[in-house]
Amino acid sequence: MSGSYLAAVDMTLLMPELIEAYVDLAEQLQQTTGIVYRAYMGYRTPQEQARLYDNYKAGKGGKAAPAWQSAHQWGIAIDVQPYNPGPTWDERAYQPLWAALGTHPTLRTGREFADGPHVEYRNPDGAWSASRLAALPRVGSGELAGRAWPLIRRLTGANPAT
Ligand SMILES: [Zn+2]
Repeated sequence: MSGSYLAAVDMTLLMPELIEAYVDLAEQLQQTTGIVYRAYMGYRTPQEQARLYDNYKAGKGGKAAPAWQSAHQWGIAIDVQPYNPGPTWDERAYQPLWAALGTHPTLRTGREFADGPHVEYRNPDGAWSASRLAALPRVGSGELAGRAWPLIRRLTGANPAT
């Protein structure tokens, strides 16, 4: 059941705290609104990020940051789409999600930087901007759990995953 929210992305490359918090939130929202918020993007390699950025610069794709300037490279962000009941990009279907994220203790919406589908693990100092991401090691997907997430937990004051 909970897998349906994240079935389209590789959950092994997302920080466990993000998964746990997001599934809880998506379950609550489905119960209260009937809308299902499904992730369509999770972890991205820097190569994938660079390609999205090139497309964006060429006017051929949605807003995207350069490689290593996106929280997606560290498995601490997902992009989600409402199903109400079919998939939609209607802003009205995003409103309950944005409202819930506005007061959420550990998740943040990218809406403040004009990226409404984006949900990221909360940095208490603000969005994961390029300067904040610069403090993280540039590791590949195989080293996220060992080298990146422990540092992110320290920076965000999160308890270690059990
Ligand atoms: Zn995103």
